[in-house]
Amino acid sequence: MKPLEIYVHIPFCVKKCNYCDFLSAPASKEERQEYVKSLCKQIRSCGEAARAYRIVSIFIGGGTPSLLEGEQMTEIFRAIRDTFFVEEHAEITVEMNPGTVSEEKLKVYQTAGINRLSIGLQSADNGELQVLGRIHTFEDFLETYWMARGMGFGNINVDLISAVPGQSQESFAKTLRKTAELSPEHISAYSLIIEEGTPFYKIYGERPYVPDCEYPPLPDEDCERQMYYDTKRILTEYGYRRYEISNYAKPGYECRHNLGYWNRTEYLGFGDGAASFMDHKRWVAGETPNLLTIEDEMEEYMFLGLRKTEGVSIPGFEKQFGKAMETVYKKVLADMESKQLLERQEDFIRLTERGIDVSNYVMSEFLL
Ligand code: SF4
Repeated sequence: MKPLEIYVHIPFCVKKCNYCDFLSAPASKEERQEYVKSLCKQIRSCGEAARAYRIVSIFIGGGTPSLLEGEQMTEIFRAIRDTFFVEEHAEITVEMNPGTVSEEKLKVYQTAGINRLSIGLQSADNGELQVLGRIHTFEDFLETYWMARGMGFGNINVDLISAVPGQSQESFAKTLRKTAELSPEHISAYSLIIEEGTPFYKIYGERPYVPDCEYPPLPDEDCERQMYYDTKRILTEYGYRRYEISNYAKPGYECRHNLGYWNRTEYLGFGDGAASFMDHKRWVAGETPNLLTIEDEMEEYMFLGLRKTEGVSIPGFEKQFGKAMETVYKKVLADMESKQLLERQEDFIRLTERGIDVSNYVMSEFLL
């Protein structure tokens, strides 16, 4: 049986955050129930195809999956387990937002086999949370975090965002320290991106920023870069290791589901807008699958793999594609190494610290 990851998208939120361009929106109780029903139908329709696979990880993402009732989560897991063979030690994550979780729900999660929680904190500063349009305070987060710990959840991720409007280097450092002191097993720290179509885009993206508007200015590029360096420095102090550009974990707690994406493990997505990758094809729910060429796959191998701090395996490339990495990417590798953006360590090629700074540029060079 081949390994397969499952992603389930729950597109509901209490209200839309000011920076969010994910597929998510508020919905009524009835709409949520209707969605879960059709989701389960979708999952169960995989019957025959599912037999060739064993499920190594499941990720219930959103949106805010913790908005679902316990019984709805149970229904989803019943559909998954009735249809697929889920490995005994599969990593099973659910995303949640503070203020949407209760002890009853957490009990249901445990019964369903959920063994990893991912909590969206974003900032430990209540003013910044308000600017972001989040529905919770830092205190709400602490309540959720300790409730989960108290119930025995031993693998928790906390999501953070840097470069929030009005945020200073010191304030983000405080958020990092306050989070690390709680000792979650995993911390994701992404820099805010001003996405088109969001309320923030109207303020910061569409036209020059108006100084006296109701929102504070964005940190400048230097400050943003410093926050990025601080993330690694501070989290390292607390025993975390960066294993991907924006992801940090205590030893042994790297997110297996995300590593699967970067290692190109096959995955099947369910729900609105969910993406899938199977049999050399990629597709988004409801759309026609796109068959990848060998060149597409080589490019993916490089730019997904280079996100990991260990980099990409040189023999692994040859094993997968029957061609040496050196033959396909001779010029790019020589160029990037001479600019000290890439380096070799034993059988791996990886980004240098400088390379991480300009990772988008480095990765784009691997397009064939
Ligand atoms: S909670 Fe997450 S998915 Fe929902 S609106 Fe906010 S950022 Fe978007």
